[in-house]
Amino acid sequence: MKYQRMRNEMVTNQIIARGISDPRVLDAMRSVPRHLFVSEAMMDQAYGDYPLPIGEQQTISQPFIVAEMTQTLELTPEDRVLEIGTGSGYQAAILAQIAFRVYTVERIYTLYTRARKLFDELRYHNIVTRYSDGTTGWREHSPFDAIIVTAGAPKIPTVLVNQLAEGGRMVIPVGDRHSQDLVRLVRDKQGIHQTHLGGCRFVKLIGEHGWRET
Ligand code: SAH
Repeated sequence: MKYQRMRNEMVTNQIIARGISDPRVLDAMRSVPRHLFVSEAMMDQAYGDYPLPIGEQQTISQPFIVAEMTQTLELTPEDRVLEIGTGSGYQAAILAQIAFRVYTVERIYTLYTRARKLFDELRYHNIVTRYSDGTTGWREHSPFDAIIVTAGAPKIPTVLVNQLAEGGRMVIPVGDRHSQDLVRLVRDKQGIHQTHLGGCRFVKLIGEHGWRET
């Protein structure tokens, strides 16, 4: 199939070539049909080395960024993951391929319903969706083994860090509205440890513990 071939090439040329090696991440990137997470007009561009618009002034991240953030979470099949910023649903589907369950939150209603419908059609039964401000996390289902924020935050929301299990990993872009630094956090017995993974560019995380609405 045409799209399967495009996916294999994407993984070889964009993902493995840039150093991603976790076999679970590579398998997930080879199997999730990314073209179904963009509009019909953009399907043939879905496997390109760039982000794409998904409506509502939001974007689906570049494939490499999705792979890098996913690898950073060091997921196992037992893990429960929280994602802030469902968007197209593509990142959630990649996580769902690897982890036990994915809880994903979106603040724009049309994106939330579109992703929910797609998860049902593609039978991602281990993705739980919610329409709300994700900057406060999802306390009822905490603590999480991993938390991924796919929108740029002005600072790391403490409430999210507090919903991380011991041994839990979190990845979040932090910076101003034009560019951010991808930050990785790990929580262990001693406390919180942070490392910086490099520059990136995301749409804004808007909410109580993110940017203000306008
Ligand atoms: N992970 C997505 C990326 C979408 S872009 C994908 O794979 O396509 C980031 C998304 O974060 C947008 O859809 C935006 O509406 C959403 N977002 C921004 N602030 C948010 C918040 N406080 N809570 C939940 N979602 C938020």
